[in-house]
Amino acid sequence: MKDIKSFNKDELTKELVEFGLQKFRAAQVYDWLHRKLCSGFDEMTNLSNELREKLKEEYEFVCLEPERVQTSKLDGTQKYLFKLSDGNYVESVLMKYKHGNSVCISSQVGCRMGCRFCASTLDGLTRNLKPSEMLDQIYRIQALTGERVSNVVVMGTGEPMDNYDNLIKFIRLLTDENGLNISQRNITVSTCGIVENMRRLSEEDLSITLALSLHSVTDEKRRTLMPIANKYSINELMDACKYYFEKTGRRVTFEYSLVRDVNDLDEDANGLIALAGSVHAHVNLIPVNPIKERDYLETTRQRVLAFKDKLEKNQINVTIRREMGRDIDGACGQLRKKTMEEKTLN
Ligand code: SAH
Repeated sequence: MKDIKSFNKDELTKELVEFGLQKFRAAQVYDWLHRKLCSGFDEMTNLSNELREKLKEEYEFVCLEPERVQTSKLDGTQKYLFKLSDGNYVESVLMKYKHGNSVCISSQVGCRMGCRFCASTLDGLTRNLKPSEMLDQIYRIQALTGERVSNVVVMGTGEPMDNYDNLIKFIRLLTDENGLNISQRNITVSTCGIVENMRRLSEEDLSITLALSLHSVTDEKRRTLMPIANKYSINELMDACKYYFEKTGRRVTFEYSLVRDVNDLDEDANGLIALAGSVHAHVNLIPVNPIKERDYLETTRQRVLAFKDKLEKNQINVTIRREMGRDIDGACGQLRKKTMEEKTLN
């Protein structure tokens, strides 16, 4: 069956006109899907019963089911575990900031990138998410909470640049003025650094923020944390970041997860100053969130602050990621993994 929520407005119009509907009906359906965020054909009350039944026979309606919702007592962050129609699970996180609500979504079921500190990749990749399945993480959260989502970060499970075409389609639907109309500037896509697709993204004419998970300043060290570093060098990554800046006028962000005694030394800070300076990057420091499957340790608070200080003294724009939802399996892939393990035990 065709996935009705993954069509853009032109495609949906063409599709439904071929199906025998008038154009204004297609606009109504699009509005139900992408603005009113309805959860099934039966809610489309300005369509006749008969028409709704016909649509049901022809089209798949993707609507994620919240299987588990955990709310942090520390900061109100909510973690959602959604069930997909094939029984797979994905995680999404709602973070409430003064400037608005931000949702972190997953782009794949699992991940094949193999980063050593990350829980999402421990069982490999199951499959890509469709545009509708990325959108619906945001749609369900907005519908369930009744609060507008203003920012979206693609930083949950999965490597977005490994699901490129669906990602671009998702971004265009999310920012469509006939849909949620989220500003492109309020969207961040995070990648472990797949150079070809970083370059393609530069040419999409989108004003989104690109975040690069750097985590090390030498190729040698990066390879010990991130297998993708065997494929692309830091030099190639920096060239791709420069290209992104040239094409879009937007500064990239470096994500740098601090791991105790691994990448938090003085020499690392010096390397990071040079790299960030060379591409005008903003640096986001993330104290690593230790997962039980690996023995990496968090950098001490004192050292995190000293690291930040050193960068700032060298004119690097730097922030420390606020650690949200630590009491609710906040790190990528932890809740999904825990649920799967519990299910296997039962
Ligand atoms: N695949 C993409 C996006 C998902 S991960 C990427 O690699 O960027 C989002 C960010 O969280 C990445 O910077 C990733 O390296 C980091 N991350 C993953 N697990 C982490 C952990 N346990 N502690 C700290 N950062 C982690």
